Amino acid sequence: MPENKDKPSIEGLTTGRGALASILRKRIVERAEVASGDEQWLVGMLRLVRVQRFPVELWVALGKESDYILIPYMFCSCPHFTIRVTGGVNLEPCYHLVATHIALSTGRFHDLSESLSPDDVEAILLEILTYGRSTLLRKVLYRIKKEDSDG
Ligand SMILES: [Zn+2]
Repeated sequence: MPENKDKPSIEGLTTGRGALASILRKRIVERAEVASGDEQWLVGMLRLVRVQRFPVELWVALGKESDYILIPYMFCSCPHFTIRVTGGVNLEPCYHLVATHIALSTGRFHDLSESLSPDDVEAILLEILTYGRSTLLRKVLYRIKKEDSDG
């Protein structure tokens, strides 16, 4: 019987599953020390966006081909993660999760968690799940960049 049957299962993912979660986290931190080109690219080009902090922290990685939805240290919607890690092949994190750790450590990411409404977040996630990338998120980022450069 589950310990907290009234809690959503995502809570179990972020607080429980101790052993697997800590192995994954350890590998993410180790890999970040010798960051690959792909990881440096995502962080350096500011392609990582925090879209929501509560009830679950959600990020989006704007990839070259597709966008992916991430929960830091926990989950990524890319094929590597869903096939290898969720599929139980091994606990080797994808480069999106490693890059997200680097972004969190260095502060090099876009934080839209305060400016996006829950409806915006839902629309962004739906676009990614349906089309593989979010036009809305790019529009929001472009608007912010333009405001920055307009002073
Ligand atoms: Zn990934």
